[in-house]
Amino acid sequence: MPTAPTDLGWHFDNSYARLPEGLFSRVGPTPVKEPGLVLFNTELAEQLGLRTEGIDPAAIAQVLAGNALPVGSEPIAQAYAGHQFGHFTMLGDGRAVLLGEQLAPDGKRYDIQLKGSGTTLYSRRGDGRATLRAMLREYLMSEAMHHLGIPTSRSLAVVRTGQPVMRERPEQGAVLTRVAASHIRVGTFEYARHFLNLKELHALMDHTIQRHHPEAADAENPALELLRSMMRGQIALIVHWMRVGFIHGVMNTDNMGLACETFDYGPCAIMNAYDPATKFSSIDTGGRYAFGNQPAIAHWNLSVLAGALLPMIHDNEDQAVALAQAVLDEFPALFRAAHLRMACAKIGITEPQAGDAALVQDLYNGMHATGADHTNTFAALQLEDPSGTAPFNDDQLIHWHARWRERINAAPDGLQAARRLMQRTNPVVIPRNHVVEQVLDAATVQNDLAPLQAFLAVLRRPYTDAAVPDTYRLPPPTGDVGYRTFCGT
Ligand code: AMP
Ligand code: MG
Repeated sequence: MPTAPTDLGWHFDNSYARLPEGLFSRVGPTPVKEPGLVLFNTELAEQLGLRTEGIDPAAIAQVLAGNALPVGSEPIAQAYAGHQFGHFTMLGDGRAVLLGEQLAPDGKRYDIQLKGSGTTLYSRRGDGRATLRAMLREYLMSEAMHHLGIPTSRSLAVVRTGQPVMRERPEQGAVLTRVAASHIRVGTFEYARHFLNLKELHALMDHTIQRHHPEAADAENPALELLRSMMRGQIALIVHWMRVGFIHGVMNTDNMGLACETFDYGPCAIMNAYDPATKFSSIDTGGRYAFGNQPAIAHWNLSVLAGALLPMIHDNEDQAVALAQAVLDEFPALFRAAHLRMACAKIGITEPQAGDAALVQDLYNGMHATGADHTNTFAALQLEDPSGTAPFNDDQLIHWHARWRERINAAPDGLQAARRLMQRTNPVVIPRNHVVEQVLDAATVQNDLAPLQAFLAVLRRPYTDAAVPDTYRLPPPTGDVGYRTFCGT
């Protein structure tokens, strides 16, 4: 494949492609018929050190559709396995290629991956392609998460391919440029443990430690410290999800990253009415990945990671298991403490005290019982007098509110400080499911990108109250009844 004639300022390294060959296969993107730039993230481009001002969008589209390679790219598809709904499977990048790692002016290294870029060794029966609607959805959700202050993969561009892809009916094809700290997954470790030798597994671990958990390098037991550091990072991430009501939807081990970023935006959604049992994914019939199950699943996924790390934790398997188990057993208490701190911040409490866990739980119980909107409950709590506003117009929550005021008034800086903390912690606007679908309809059915662009502009400032129209702030009158999300489309 030719190198693109226009250099956008790529500064690639390809450290993953220097790892043992068993971890990937060399393959480039498959060119498409008629690339056309649909969305481009100028702010992210700048952060990556790309020069795009004054450059013909067609030249950008050529590269980000996979029709020409950026300077310095050594494209590969990564091999991985994973537990999907609890079952071990061989997977791998079946419709994505890693172009390389951009060394950005901020000193960080970013994977630049094309998703929907054609078949690879790991495609099985898939066509290697993605629909425009699904790639726009990932762009929208990942950018919304980023601006909510949550670690996540990001989206640099969506390029249409000019080629239809066959799903239930023919749909427009597209390629997403995904930007991530890396695409190393728990499933990558499972793959190396099952299909490669110890030397290769070790190389993967060293690479991962250096990239994402450097403090583990100097630990007495680096593998064990990697597990501990990953546990801390995942707890922090999932507490963020629970802060905004995010449901990942498919927390298979191949979708849990060692960089501790949110990634794989297939069936995710943000909850409106508070209910821990909320799930939207069409294939998650048992609710394995429901909102309130996310901590337990993260714990389970970490135990799978621990299993893959065992031979590097200790030569003696029994001792390795005991050491790993002791780390994993810290999960529930660490999670509870982190979650309590977050939930207290949502109601304006900086330092949790005895009794605050019950205060928080009573609020959640009241929200659940009244079907309160998760986001708008915490917005209402910031009002001078919320007694006329749901859910604080309900007897149960009127009583709770009086208790809360007492608690806040007793704190050193009182209500003013509480309000400031609540403002930073509680978004006023989230990507509401019905709005997401409306703007995607406009973009894909009516070819009108304006509603999507307008929504993205609002989602860039989710903590700013200033005049966000009600259309973005209110849940639909009928709630999310019947709302379904889908995996890889
Ligand atoms: P996901 O549901 O996105 O986590 O994907 C699960 C697995 O299916 C991964 O190995 C993907 O690469 C693969 N996959 C998903 N969609 C396609 C497709 N259209 N063509 C080939 N492989 C795919
Ligand atoms: Mg995946």
